[in-house]
Amino acid sequence: MGEEARGSGIQPGATGLPEQGRRFAYAPAPESREIVRLRERYDLFVDGRWVEPKAGRTFTTIDPATEEPLAEVAEAGEEDVDLAVRAAAEAYETRWRDLPGKERAKYLFRIARALQERSREFAVLETLNNGKPIKESRDVDVPLAAAHFFYHAGWADKLEYAFPGRRPRPLGVAAQIVPWNFPLLMCAWKLAPALATGNTAVLKPASTTPLTALLLAEVIEEAELPPGVVNVVTGPGGRTGEYLARHPGVAKVAFTGSTAVGKVLRRALAGSGKRLTLELGGKAANIVFEDAPIDQAIEGIVNGIFFNQGEVCCAGSRLFVQESVADLVTEKLKARLATLRVGDPLDKNTDVGAINNRGQLEKIRELVRSGVEEGAEIYQPPCELPERGFWFPPTLFTNVSMSHRIAREEIFGPVLSILTFRTPAEAVEKANNTEYGLSAGVWTEKGSRILWMAERVKAGVVWGEHVQPVRPVRTLRRVQGERLRARGRPPRPRGLPRSRGREAVSERLPVRRTAKLFIGGAFPRSESGRSYEVLAPDGRLLAHAARASRKDLRDAVRAARAAQPGWAGLTAYHRGQILYRVAELMEGRRGQFEAELADAGSRDPRREVEVAIDRWVWYAGWADKFAQVLGGTNPVAGPYFNFTVPEPMGVVGIVAPREDPLLGLVSRLAPAIVSGNAAVALASEPAPLPAVSLAEVLATSDVPPGAVNILTGLTAELVPWLAGHMDVNAIDVTGVPADLLAQVDELATENMKRIVRAPDADPFSERAESPYEITVLTEFKTVWHPIGA
Ligand code: NAP
Repeated sequence: MGEEARGSGIQPGATGLPEQGRRFAYAPAPESREIVRLRERYDLFVDGRWVEPKAGRTFTTIDPATEEPLAEVAEAGEEDVDLAVRAAAEAYETRWRDLPGKERAKYLFRIARALQERSREFAVLETLNNGKPIKESRDVDVPLAAAHFFYHAGWADKLEYAFPGRRPRPLGVAAQIVPWNFPLLMCAWKLAPALATGNTAVLKPASTTPLTALLLAEVIEEAELPPGVVNVVTGPGGRTGEYLARHPGVAKVAFTGSTAVGKVLRRALAGSGKRLTLELGGKAANIVFEDAPIDQAIEGIVNGIFFNQGEVCCAGSRLFVQESVADLVTEKLKARLATLRVGDPLDKNTDVGAINNRGQLEKIRELVRSGVEEGAEIYQPPCELPERGFWFPPTLFTNVSMSHRIAREEIFGPVLSILTFRTPAEAVEKANNTEYGLSAGVWTEKGSRILWMAERVKAGVVWGEHVQPVRPVRTLRRVQGERLRARGRPPRPRGLPRSRGREAVSERLPVRRTAKLFIGGAFPRSESGRSYEVLAPDGRLLAHAARASRKDLRDAVRAARAAQPGWAGLTAYHRGQILYRVAELMEGRRGQFEAELADAGSRDPRREVEVAIDRWVWYAGWADKFAQVLGGTNPVAGPYFNFTVPEPMGVVGIVAPREDPLLGLVSRLAPAIVSGNAAVALASEPAPLPAVSLAEVLATSDVPPGAVNILTGLTAELVPWLAGHMDVNAIDVTGVPADLLAQVDELATENMKRIVRAPDADPFSERAESPYEITVLTEFKTVWHPIGA
């Protein structure tokens, strides 16, 4: 840290090392604090409005890296808390509890989106108020907070699947009290599931980090959540927090924080009939066996304890290393510690930021002193800490014994205690010798040992050493959609003189839209050079649509095959986001879809568009859930661990029905692709235009080129080609005319294609929305793994 780099780029650091041993240091890369617009003073967010505290009291919130004040924040007194709980109770009764899950979901999706859109502002504010490095708030806190809202939005209308056989009912007003280590993320953790299930909330952020919770309240206001559904009251835990937890109008208290306060709350609530969830402290064990990939383990250990300055409830603060590799691991850890950059949290290169508050810094110092006094050996890499602010260097202790306070008490800071063991049984015994049981990590090459350890270590979460490969995320790709209009004259531009007589003939003709194919993300004409007439029920010519040939169909299947692994390789969460984006884009083109459906003689154009959009949203929400509901672990006799994971089938052919040309197609396409299948869809023959518009939407969304291909043409020609294609894994025959079904059956037998169809021919039916529609196009893989040390 002491190395000051000058100018731009990388400069040799003033390390004092001989010439050839010089190290290089990064030039400062500070994020701009101008991104956030701080208010001088923040009020309480109650009943959808910003209100001053009744007693007029405020407190100052500061930047822990500089101790500079950031803003004045309202302190909620008993009367303010009472108003907030009453507002939440009223909103629960009248505006939220009985709102259909689908509608609640949309509010949560809006919040998720706003968090993504304003992510930079949230990240900078989080870092300013908490002291954590900007790269962590930017890459972890804010994206995860958005992901929580997105994930729970998806559950809001699927609760019967989350709790099969039970009818989940909301409880009422939830009092939610959160700590300062992940201020925004904790709000998301608490709010998203409570709101998704129909509860309303009064949230109390930690006193040292209220600002992102208040910015979230702003987002909630902008998302137009009904007033009172979320209320934010700020103030000290001992007063505001206690008033809230004890308020008789509260049905549930959800608390994350210290074990000490958890106990206070539990006692206070005993006998009140209120539900209580406590997420408390930890002293997690990281266990490294001699066969572990040591360099990988070092990164895991460093991340486990120095991420977020060690202010993590499940930080790996106790490291157990098998004796034979203890010296090696310690040396490598010391070398790695020396490379950690401690300092300005807003610098994008900073690894370890400021401790959140003075009290916490004193607690860390006191425990570290006790470690030295009790005989453990301390190591801290040389680093210059800023003069102002709350700072503590990354610290290692060796020669630690199980009785030392640093091995027993939660430090909640960047301090690691290293202990050793000889056998797996000893590792288990030592790891379990703690009053905490939050989490543990096991580093070994032996998968069976991970499972053996996982069975024995008393912790809620056990991480195996398997490292997930990070998949490249596709960058945003925008294909220029066709914007040409087929029908109707554009309104006359204002100010242009009306033409008269012969001049009227020269009035501008609208550019007509051609309905092309959609293959591999592009819009080619049919290679056959043929098209067919699309007519309205009254005989009007609407357009000429491409008449796909056998070769076009082959091209589409080839594009789907090539795109499928990439599409399936995205995280389920990412696929869900993309499907949701399709809904957003359709929403922006409602008028166009409605007009096309009206022209096609649809029975209820407006409703068809609305249900189609909502159907994307519904299936988007399943992307990261269906595996959880339909896969899982299986009971087996013997020392084996056995689990089932669904996998996409590959390329799926979909034949859209003639009727309901938009909703019929979307209802089969969404469940087919959400699990990672690619699709070749045939549009309704008499009404292909809504499908062509859908293709334009897909092209401007982030659906990878080729993951969905849409062909227009003559059903009787295309269906047999699709059914007979050897590289199509399944065919959805919902829209196949009855007279072609037998032929499809026969052709599909050749490569044992799976044949599926909608449970109900009417896509408006409730049965059109079911996670089973996803699984009919997935394979189930069962994995066996032995358990043994
Ligand atoms: P804390 O002192 O328990 O505070 C947590 C929250 O409770 C803050 O909002 C605090 O308000 C409030 N509070 C304090 N006293 C209260 C009372 N008597 N009644 C009602 N509310 C009260 O904990 P912290 O120091 O902020 O956080 C660190 C602790 O949280 C660590 O022990 C850590 O392990 C734990 N934690 C656990 C998890 C988990 O998921 N298990 C996650 C994160 C953190 P003020 O800020 O105004 O004091």
